Amino acid sequence: MSASAAPMASSGLAPAAAARAALKRPRGCAAARPGARRGVYCKAVAAPVSPTELKPPANLHGFELMREEYVAEYDAKVFMFRHEKTGAEVMSLSNDDENKTFGVTFRTPPANSTGIPHILEHSVLCGSRKYPIKEPFVELIKGSLNTFLNAMTYPDRTCYPVASCNLQDFKNLVDVYLDAVFHPRCMENEKTFLQEGWHYELDKPEGEMTFKGVVFNEMKGVYSSPDSVLAREAQQALFPDNTYGVDSGGDPTVIPDLSFEEFKEFHGKFYHPSNARMWFYGDDDVEERLQILDSFLSEFERREVDSSIATQPFFDEPKRVVASYVAGEGDEQQKSFVQVNWLLNDGPFDQETALAVGFLDNLLMGSPAAPLRMALEESGLGEAIVGWGLEDELRQPTFAIGLKGVAKEDIPKVEKLIEDTIAKIAAEGFTQAAIDSSVNTIEFSMRENNTGRFPRGLSLMLRSLSAWLYEGDPVMPLRFEEPLAQLKERMAKEDVFTALIKKLLIENKHQVTIELNPDKQMAKAQEDAEKARIAKYREGLSPEELEKVVAETEELKRLQETPDTPEALACVPTLAISDIPKEAKNIPTDVGAIGETEVLTHDIATSEILYAEHLMVRPARSRLIRRKDFFPESSEWTARGP
Ligand SMILES: [Zn+2]
Repeated sequence: MSASAAPMASSGLAPAAAARAALKRPRGCAAARPGARRGVYCKAVAAPVSPTELKPPANLHGFELMREEYVAEYDAKVFMFRHEKTGAEVMSLSNDDENKTFGVTFRTPPANSTGIPHILEHSVLCGSRKYPIKEPFVELIKGSLNTFLNAMTYPDRTCYPVASCNLQDFKNLVDVYLDAVFHPRCMENEKTFLQEGWHYELDKPEGEMTFKGVVFNEMKGVYSSPDSVLAREAQQALFPDNTYGVDSGGDPTVIPDLSFEEFKEFHGKFYHPSNARMWFYGDDDVEERLQILDSFLSEFERREVDSSIATQPFFDEPKRVVASYVAGEGDEQQKSFVQVNWLLNDGPFDQETALAVGFLDNLLMGSPAAPLRMALEESGLGEAIVGWGLEDELRQPTFAIGLKGVAKEDIPKVEKLIEDTIAKIAAEGFTQAAIDSSVNTIEFSMRENNTGRFPRGLSLMLRSLSAWLYEGDPVMPLRFEEPLAQLKERMAKEDVFTALIKKLLIENKHQVTIELNPDKQMAKAQEDAEKARIAKYREGLSPEELEKVVAETEELKRLQETPDTPEALACVPTLAISDIPKEAKNIPTDVGAIGETEVLTHDIATSEILYAEHLMVRPARSRLIRRKDFFPESSEWTARGP
């Protein structure tokens, strides 16, 4: 379980964006362990009913249909439902993707850095009403065909997504997740909180007392990584006035302030259907989706949940933060970090601007030849780039760029280089070839939505949430054809990008420079402070109370070491052989020819992208083969290509 480990996700934009996402994705915690299977390959096949013709189910199982739309970009029918009794919102996408995905997301804005959202994310996966065992997901994974199983704590939300190509497996996973979030055992069992959050550990009365806890230990690791420190300092400095100014993952010096009562209260408030956004995607039945959800939701009553994320007002003047990171003893190579950050907007961008800023990000940083990236990489002032540009998953988009491995005296040079390079680019503009290349890269990646091993449905869910979570239209982020056409039209007439650079990066006063320096005394100071805190607590304990801490330590260890009984484990659903379809999927195939060559074509939705593969038997003594030997009528092949 690692808080900083990215849930190997890309939210489906440009490869550069995917690379960035991997670097600085919000706290994703593999609490259920990334169970992505290699070798499970989901092929698109023709659905029995075309998504365009799909009707809402006759029986809505306690939901009302809010709207329905067809999203041509992903050949998907979208129904937005609301649960009448609780107000829970459901976005249901149907298309022919057999890699079905489900996710339940709660807005969980923390008020402090005790790490409640993160500790909860761990704890709800430690057994539930229907699955009263230690780690249902660990057991479930043993017999599951899941293509994704994870949970992620962001600065403002907690997401529980799953995916599987097998229908029964998918339903099992959904059931275990819904039971986990709505009926976790950790609400009655303080031991889970102590184990996953924090507790005092003492083996014998005269022994050394320490803090222990899964999240406590995990966050100590995160806080010792300078890259994490930089990302956190930047986020907190950009957003001093809203929930992004604290750490949802938990600050190890603040985590021990958290009580079990506050922890329970947080779950009661936010893990409620009235604060839930649920997502279904793929080729499974819509009515069944509603039926499953209603079976969990109907026992709750609607409630007002204030979980909205406040807007960070813009600064009047740029700011500067000088902070330190823990440097190892005797390491002479420790150097500084410097990163410049901007807050770009007062809310999510509209689709056309989002596309334009995405293109701009790619133009500035997307390739080794991109001017901002090249200027930094070739400057010799630092060892590697940090920040990596645009971040647009939270309430307000930001941009960050800097270098690590910088000599302290070179920090002003790095800042000046960033400022000068941006000014130069704004004055000179980009070449048409560079613009075309960035537009093509991003457009292709949006059309293809090739998210690698990360399920497509989840990539779309994360995109929808970027608007849905902030009272925006969740369907809008899935549509790009119209805004793209509009933007292209505008780009033909005016210089969109230099105007954007001026507005967002040059004239924008909401700018924070973070300077992060190594500190060799810091580790010792932190350790001393923690020891002093524990010593102070210990001094206040009577001998009986001290004995109680020893007994509790022992009890917790005993519980951790006691395995679930076979009877308890029997609650975990497993797949039967009969749950695995015997028939191979039928992929439509037409046999035709181009010239002398036999050509197989498959009529499936590929978002205007043509995939072609040519295979040949090589003669024993072959001459050099020219392209036109294979594509004598190549114009036919490229007509539909990107
Ligand atoms: Zn974690």
